[in-house]
Amino acid sequence: MLNLSEARALIASQARPIEDRETVPLAQAHRRFAAEPCLARVDVPPASNSAMDGYALRVPQTPPPWTLSISQTIAAGRAPQPLAEGTAARILTGAEIPAGADAVAIQENCERNGDQVTIRSAVKPGENIRPQGQDLARGQRIVAPGQRLSAIDLGLLASTGHDAVTVVRKPRVAIVSSGSELTPPGQPLAPGRIYDSNRFALQALLQDWGCETVASTHVADDLEATRALLQDLAPRVDLLITSGGVSVGDEDHLKAAIGQLGRLDLWKVRLKPGKPLAFGHIHMAGGATPVIALPGNPVSALVTAGLFIKPFIAGLLGRAYEPLAFAQAPATFAITKPRSRPELMRASLENGQLIAASNQSSGVLSSLQWANALVWVEADLTVAPGAPLPFIALHDFLNL
Ligand code: AMP
Ligand code: MG
Repeated sequence: MLNLSEARALIASQARPIEDRETVPLAQAHRRFAAEPCLARVDVPPASNSAMDGYALRVPQTPPPWTLSISQTIAAGRAPQPLAEGTAARILTGAEIPAGADAVAIQENCERNGDQVTIRSAVKPGENIRPQGQDLARGQRIVAPGQRLSAIDLGLLASTGHDAVTVVRKPRVAIVSSGSELTPPGQPLAPGRIYDSNRFALQALLQDWGCETVASTHVADDLEATRALLQDLAPRVDLLITSGGVSVGDEDHLKAAIGQLGRLDLWKVRLKPGKPLAFGHIHMAGGATPVIALPGNPVSALVTAGLFIKPFIAGLLGRAYEPLAFAQAPATFAITKPRSRPELMRASLENGQLIAASNQSSGVLSSLQWANALVWVEADLTVAPGAPLPFIALHDFLNL
């Protein structure tokens, strides 16, 4: 049985970066993944401009006060004339500095009399001027390939004149809930049944990770039906995701279905939650589609999605593999019963201390809602309260 880091690296190593690209308008580019570097097309600002309302001048050699005639008025958006020697220009915030001026005196320190202005306090060359290119220089790289475009990135792209950006095609995924007990929410619940929650939680995660869910469906505990569904979905997606039916029960058919349709690369990880977890490929004409089969318990499904699906999606998007990064904090609880395999416990980091969720059952999804951290408990470990334990912040863990 592989351990967590081995299994994670193996699964991620099978992600082939998507080569398809699309050029989308900036308004549709938020949270997409850049496919190419983007360079600044112009200096930002394109020309030096005034940071304040006041008077642009060439700073005289003599001490103030300086009385100068006003030779022009420059508002934002207008092209200035070169500054006539020995004069000042009335200038407003954001307006371009005229050639020949080297400072702006703020209007609070000036007195205007008709077409003359008296500047009472000294200004230094460069004062109240935002120099050309102070934000970005033309040709400077503002976005790297693989970068997920944030609101800030879009602002930078727009500021240098980009109206569109080339991004990686969204990874296409299909999500299948497996289990004869599952009923879609919205329908009455018959005896023996439960509502299917995994499909909706997983779809939301995949949307967060920039994917397009092309199919979200359900299959009963039936080998033939499972096989038929996987075979039907495989040609349409970059990754097949299932939950449930991957353990060793009589009604767990995922492992067999994957094996029969292609190749099972991995089954079982030395970890709680996530021991039953399969990774393989469905073979079809002209290729193979990877499939990750997650355990069915809602907490297990979401935690293993973060552990194994997120890095796979990152790989599809051309991102380099990143191992899990743990921080350390003292735990308020003791571990007296050693685990037979490593466990990721739900916990809440409060005032620098880790508090364990009172119910660690993999079916208790509300504990994951309460938690903000996953604590790593090594196998065979016992610790007293106050001992530092490694943990991952849930927000980082679930964010791509
Ligand atoms: P399994 O992995 O199929 O053995 O399922 C483990 C547990 O998770 C069982 O109690 C299932 O009823 C439950 N389960 C499986 N799939 C889902 C799902 N899609 N939504 C909610 N619970 C599920
Ligand atoms: Mg089941």
